Amino acid sequence: MIPYGHQFIDKDDINSVVRALKSDWLTQGPKILEFEKALADYCGAKYAVAVSSGTAALHLAYLALGIKKGDEVIIPANTFAATANMAIACGAKPVFCDIRMDSYNIDESKIAKLITKKTKAIVPVHFAGQPANMDVIWRLARKYKLKVIEDAAHALGAKYGRRRIGNGDSALVTFSFHPVKAITMGEGGAIMTNQKEYYERLIKLRSHGISKNKQGSNSMGLLGFNYRLTDIQAALGLSQLKKLNNFIAKRRRIAGWYCRQLRNIPQLILPGKIGNAESAWHLFVIRAKFAKDRALLKDFLKAKGIGTQIHYPPVYLHPYYQRHGYARVNCKNAQIYGDTCLSIPIYSSLSRAQVSCISSHIKSYFNQ
Ligand SMILES: *Cc1c(COP(=O)(O)O)cnc(C)c1O
Repeated sequence: MIPYGHQFIDKDDINSVVRALKSDWLTQGPKILEFEKALADYCGAKYAVAVSSGTAALHLAYLALGIKKGDEVIIPANTFAATANMAIACGAKPVFCDIRMDSYNIDESKIAKLITKKTKAIVPVHFAGQPANMDVIWRLARKYKLKVIEDAAHALGAKYGRRRIGNGDSALVTFSFHPVKAITMGEGGAIMTNQKEYYERLIKLRSHGISKNKQGSNSMGLLGFNYRLTDIQAALGLSQLKKLNNFIAKRRRIAGWYCRQLRNIPQLILPGKIGNAESAWHLFVIRAKFAKDRALLKDFLKAKGIGTQIHYPPVYLHPYYQRHGYARVNCKNAQIYGDTCLSIPIYSSLSRAQVSCISSHIKSYFNQ
């Protein structure tokens, strides 16, 4: 079975994990800071805070901004549930915004009319690694005095203009290091910021809200968690980070192969280059012009040993959301998109022969 996504682990990765295991520090040691420095340098950001998952990163990002009960946050309907779930975990209400049909990102032209007195933040998601239209989102945020958190779980290594994602005008940017993401540590995440105040708050929240007071004893000033990353994971992250640009280049090449091989299928819509952004190609999403083809093509490819995935049905259609006040939400584009999208395999070690094989199966489904 060819999966839709897969990690790449080599000897260097294994050796660095083994060295961490043999060191004095399994957690709360020097590797964490080393990884945070390397990640901040890579993105061009001032600070990085490494945490135990992308979901933990989102939870702490909302808390660091003081998002609480009664607040609203604007989130694209097309994302992984965690983006909205963690706002709910803080007592806030996610308000879903429809998406654009070229990038499948939040439709920035539809944000303003969702803003109310309760709105505190806009949370764009750089879907599939394609950066959202941040200039417009930052302008809206300044105009309405809102904070921006970028859920960049798909977009480590992507560029927006000349800057890397992770270094922009947003208050906070979150990453995930789950095995299907650009680099992995098994589980892991990070929050990027250019503001010291947020950085200091995040460091405390990550570890029970406890810090050393002036007398040198431990003092708990905030309600925090244990969202720490281990040194074992950080060692893996450091060695993965060295390969990141190579990973992205390979993903870009694979996307190019697919585009060439699949471009003459009239029943398919392929992703393209949008604006002055460079995608990290976390996903390669094809769209069937007819919803019935999506379901049949998914089964057809499965029978040939090719794994695919649906990213994502609109978040508010999950049963939990339907039961909690979202039954009447209707983001038209996100629904059409959710019924017709299919993520086909893309990851750094996928070979040209495999891409050709997957493409010819797709062509044969459409009788080409
Ligand atoms: C993967 C992902 C997350 C969550 O990251 P985990 O590390 O799995 O907790 C959040 N948002 C998006 C868009 C993701 O793809």
